[in-house]
Amino acid sequence: MGVLMNISVIGAGYVGLVNAACFAKLGHQVICVDVDKEKVDKINQSISPIYEKDLEEIIKKYKKNIYATTSYKEAVEKSDITFICVGTPSKKNGDIDLLFVDQATKEIAIYLKNKKSFHSVVVKSTVVPGTTQNHVLPLLEEITQKKAGVDFGVGMNPEFLREGAAVYDFLHPDRIVYGYYDDHTKKLLSLLYSDFSCPIVETSLTVAEMIKYASNCFLATKISFINEIGNLCKRLGIDSYEVAEGIGLDDRIGRAFLDSGIGWGGSCFGKDVNALIAFAKEIKEPCNIIQSVVQVNEQQPLRLISVLKKHIPLLKGKIIGVLGLSFKPNTDDIRDSRSIILVKNLFEENAQVKVYDPKAMNHFKKLFSDIIYCDNAKDVLDADAVIIATAWDEFKKLDYKGKIVIDGRRLLEAKKTAKIYEGVCW
Ligand code: NAD
Repeated sequence: MGVLMNISVIGAGYVGLVNAACFAKLGHQVICVDVDKEKVDKINQSISPIYEKDLEEIIKKYKKNIYATTSYKEAVEKSDITFICVGTPSKKNGDIDLLFVDQATKEIAIYLKNKKSFHSVVVKSTVVPGTTQNHVLPLLEEITQKKAGVDFGVGMNPEFLREGAAVYDFLHPDRIVYGYYDDHTKKLLSLLYSDFSCPIVETSLTVAEMIKYASNCFLATKISFINEIGNLCKRLGIDSYEVAEGIGLDDRIGRAFLDSGIGWGGSCFGKDVNALIAFAKEIKEPCNIIQSVVQVNEQQPLRLISVLKKHIPLLKGKIIGVLGLSFKPNTDDIRDSRSIILVKNLFEENAQVKVYDPKAMNHFKKLFSDIIYCDNAKDVLDADAVIIATAWDEFKKLDYKGKIVIDGRRLLEAKKTAKIYEGVCW
């Protein structure tokens, strides 16, 4: 059993709340800080403000170990280590926006200034290489008038969890990576993670940051690569998934992330890939591969519209059903979802759109108010054609009899009953 700690987590979003809840489950005392009072209240009523499998159950079960507040003072004073887990969105030009990281750092620093005992600040948000060392650390020193490594500690602990399986991923990581500035923070982090049996990478702050970006860029590259191969396969009339099986057996390649479809979405890949491109541009290094990865990904949903138009050449006035709005199954997150691009394009073609998603409809309604939101998946089938945009399990069980189904996510079950079934790149 590792050492139990007092932990504070800034930002109770997908990463912050999952970490907070799981640390609480492991026996630590955790304080979550969020600027969103509604989120704070929900957490204190043991309600999860986001949908993530098992999350609410953990918050309920371990409520003695976790609470939320808007008070940084309380969080810094009552904990020994603070994780910054706020969002790091993209600016319009793709640059990373450090506004929330800055706000959080400044607030932490105000209370760190008067704190007598040693306290470590660990960045968990995804930030471009050099940010913790050259930006967060000097900001903390400036406001506290204290010396990093002597009076307080600094670390960088990138997060690799997948939305939809976030709790599982926290509890069963492939690896844990942390960078440290000082030995005290190194010791704290090594104790915190001592019960995990996975490989642990202890490194510098900047290497930890780069590992996160390189991981996401590589995974995004794998998907765009297989989508390009998939597009070629479709032209040849062969199955890209058979090809993926054949490639994936090579240990150097691996089968994961070789499912061709309509591309990646979510809160991370797009912004992280674009942030690295913008960062490379700033330091005048070419990023040709990663740039193409984005281009392929933007084109891929349009391929699905082209396939649909093979069957219904004029979409004007037709009703097109879209099954799935979240960027992947088992989450309510629609950030950068391919469904957004699909629906926009269907609008441009003057089609009528009806949609269903088990978890993400409320978020989607904020973007599109003038589409038909169905109460269940079956009601979407009452359309001229149906697009499968997210691979929710329940879509496998539908009866697609008599329907035209254009599949972006390889739900082959639909093929069994549909009148016409076509995959985007198989
Ligand atoms: P999110 O938007 O879900 O959550 C961020 C939270 O921070 C929100 O609840 C927001 O209200 C809060 N917040 C903003 N400013 C604040 C402030 N000054 N003080 C306190 N709270 C504040 O974001 P997320 O998806 O959890 O991502 C957080 C970071 O983790 C990002 O850098 C992201 O790139 C990274 N990351 C995300 C994932 C993922 O799957 N979502 C995976 C790995 C890494």
